[in-house]
Amino acid sequence: MTQPAATIHRARMQPSEADLLASRFEESSPEEVLSWAVDRFGDALALSTSFQVAGMVLLDMLSRISPDTRIITLDTGRLPAETYDLIDRVQMRYGCRVEVHSPDPAELTDIVARHGMNMFYRSYSLRLRCCEVRKVRPLERALAGLDAWITGLVRSQGGTRTDTPKLSIDSARGGMVKISPLADWDDERVWAYVREHDVPYSALYDRGYTSIGCDPCTRAVQPGEDPRAGRWWWEEGVPKECGIHVGPSAARPVGGQAR
Ligand code: SF4
Repeated sequence: MTQPAATIHRARMQPSEADLLASRFEESSPEEVLSWAVDRFGDALALSTSFQVAGMVLLDMLSRISPDTRIITLDTGRLPAETYDLIDRVQMRYGCRVEVHSPDPAELTDIVARHGMNMFYRSYSLRLRCCEVRKVRPLERALAGLDAWITGLVRSQGGTRTDTPKLSIDSARGGMVKISPLADWDDERVWAYVREHDVPYSALYDRGYTSIGCDPCTRAVQPGEDPRAGRWWWEEGVPKECGIHVGPSAARPVGGQAR
């Protein structure tokens, strides 16, 4: 007997199934992985993107596979103007609605009153605190009630992303499924897709940026530098992560000092 769709969507995936699927998806295209995710999770699935170029590729693919799949983004309040401009261009181009999630006003007021507007430059722990209030917690609220989320993580960004599986259980978020269909793509492949499909992208890429986050915490990189070197560039010996894709233990300093 066929189970009701709602029951299928709400069932948590077992780790053994996740391992099997992750292995199978190594041979699958991003479109195949996205189609599978839409079939499996239906309206309990969302794409979470900060409008970096890999996220734009996924958004473009989804616009043809499942234009009604939710698109979630975080407005930290400190994004570059180019990101806001891109969000508007995306909504016009694809006729979609981007769900913009903001920090909790009370939490934001509290950390700014305690530590100042630019607390992130003062210490690594304050930087993580800012990311927690402006990014990690709003994402948790945005993903509440979903069974799976899609990310634009790619292994070629290095660091903690080198071993990114295409599918995993997100134990930090109640066991929901985390899907990274572009995990095995490199920059060259991402940009080839952008050119072929005329995908809109942030104007900052044409000014030497290779990874884009909040305005005060991101700068352009020199040729040959690590693609994420422009993120929190003043920090040394700590992961270039905000806490969304790594747990607290992985975000601890591994040597060196943050300014
Ligand atoms: Fe705060 Fe910078 Fe993290 Fe943005 S990237 S949330 S401004 S510390």
